[in-house]
Amino acid sequence: MKVTVLGSGGSEGIPVPYCDCRVCKGGDHRFRTSYLITVKDKNILVECGPDFRAQQLKHNFSLDYLFISHQHNDHIEGLHDLRHIMLISKVKMKKINLLVSNKLHKDFLDKSIVEKEGIRYAYNRLIKKKKFNLSLMDYYKEYNFKNFSMFLFKNPHENKVCDAFLLKAEGKTIIYLGDVGKFYSKSIEIINNTNPDLLIINIPRFYSIKPKHVGIEDLTDLKAKKILISHFSHRTNLLHHEIEKEAKKYNNDMIVAQDGLIIDV
Ligand SMILES: [Zn+2]
Ligand SMILES: [Zn+2]
Ligand SMILES: [Zn+2]
Repeated sequence: MKVTVLGSGGSEGIPVPYCDCRVCKGGDHRFRTSYLITVKDKNILVECGPDFRAQQLKHNFSLDYLFISHQHNDHIEGLHDLRHIMLISKVKMKKINLLVSNKLHKDFLDKSIVEKEGIRYAYNRLIKKKKFNLSLMDYYKEYNFKNFSMFLFKNPHENKVCDAFLLKAEGKTIIYLGDVGKFYSKSIEIINNTNPDLLIINIPRFYSIKPKHVGIEDLTDLKAKKILISHFSHRTNLLHHEIEKEAKKYNNDMIVAQDGLIIDV
């Protein structure tokens, strides 16, 4: 299994337009956070954010599966481009296998609770035009796909939940947590019982900003062979090499995400 970091930036990316802070002027470049997990010859795109178009053009990946964790713009805005590619430009593409929880799918289809009208439109059009094969999942149940299995769970994130998954393939395990405001105890149990080969978590400010995001100090009790930290905001006030240095103080098995980084699992 292979994980490619397509983007490692927070919701505004780095650099931020018009910002002259030391991070934005420091030479780091981070697209909005997204990952490509490659299992055999199949790709799972994890999140479809605002930089999806640029990420696809840069890495030229095929899109077999798409996982979306929650409704925040930095995780779904690329659906607009996907709608244009598949429905307006009518580029010939095979159907994408959409991996989402039943809960998130219902939220997308439910007019009353969606704040981001435009994204809901893109999602609904792609569903209506049958561009997705729907693999709707319930939490705490394992689902088998061709070369991998997926088990969904969740954690609170702002006033919603963010869906997480445990993926098993080729005898290895990856846990993807996405954005986490705090951990449910059940999630900690899942992580520690699995002791995954790779744990992926978003910590935008590096340190915790409760209740929005946990930080590095919340990861010390988690059991994982390697932890990939990502989704960094310029508000960390830390350049990439400084994040690496700080992370070492907490755990030697911490990998700091950088755009284009490839991790063999
Ligand atoms: Zn800045
Ligand atoms: Zn979020
Ligand atoms: Zn986010």
